Amino acid sequence: MHYFGEKWEPAVDTLTVPVATPVGARCDTCRTPIYDGDRGYITGDITTTPYGSLDIDHRECVVMLRVGHGHGACGCNGPREPEQMRADAVELWARLYPGH
Ligand SMILES: [Zn+2]
Ligand SMILES: [Zn+2]
Repeated sequence: MHYFGEKWEPAVDTLTVPVATPVGARCDTCRTPIYDGDRGYITGDITTTPYGSLDIDHRECVVMLRVGHGHGACGCNGPREPEQMRADAVELWARLYPGH
């Protein structure tokens, strides 16, 4: 697995190789574009696979998928617009990892 953006602490043990931020690609979870300064994960072989076929996710969105249900930040209450999903994920991250 790869990560992009500035290195962060809560998930540092699972991080492997830093890569350039895939600006303009869309997060597979929230579907909003990746911006410079975002942080997240890329799964797949980035040397042979085009960005469109890689699994790219904001770090906040990965956490929302894993534990969002228990914190009221999942999609169980109905579909969300991409921007709302992204905002929910960022808000959840701030609650779980204040200061990170
Ligand atoms: Zn996302
Ligand atoms: Zn749920």
